[in-house]
Amino acid sequence: MNVQEKVYQAIASDKEPRDDSKIHVSDLVYDCQRKAAYSKLSPSQYFNFKTAMTFWIGRAIHKTPIFSEAEKDVKWNGVVGSVDEYDPATGTIIEKKTCREIPTQPYNHHKKQVEFYAYMLSKMGNKVDKAYILYIDVSKPAIKLYEVFLRSMAKIGEEFDKKVAVLEKFLENKELPKRNTGWICNYCEFANVCLGGSK
Ligand code: SF4
Repeated sequence: MNVQEKVYQAIASDKEPRDDSKIHVSDLVYDCQRKAAYSKLSPSQYFNFKTAMTFWIGRAIHKTPIFSEAEKDVKWNGVVGSVDEYDPATGTIIEKKTCREIPTQPYNHHKKQVEFYAYMLSKMGNKVDKAYILYIDVSKPAIKLYEVFLRSMAKIGEEFDKKVAVLEKFLENKELPKRNTGWICNYCEFANVCLGGSK
């Protein structure tokens, strides 16, 4: 194996184990639950080198903690996740996102992720007052912090429980949830199998 192959192999194999029999917060963030179901059916089939690189860069960035509780594990109602940054003294969450261009406002699925973390933390008895998304543009480089104005915990919980129920049903009977087509189909790695090649 030459040096370049060694580099590629190291990056591709540096992945955190993920138990796909469990529901992760990231399975709940998109409006289409079918997408999450596909990723559970054949997780490794869609894992290519580009995906490995993206995860690798993300993990390197996550190695710098900001608050006293970094990468805090959360678990609620059978869902697992890891909050990037949590400050228990002020009840503040920060979710870090790498990108190639900082968006003019936070993406909806990122806001959902932060809201679900906030909900899970509060259900676990933690104080949550403020939430932020930190976009890290790795190409410039540049950073931008956006505050996420959280909906009521009751509203977030209602959506969370509904989405969990859909995925639990799928994990039980393996019947794919209904399609919810939209802009996301243009970026969905399962579009070919889901839409038969016609986006
Ligand atoms: S292609 Fe669209 S409808 Fe199908 S799984 Fe992906 S996001 Fe959902």
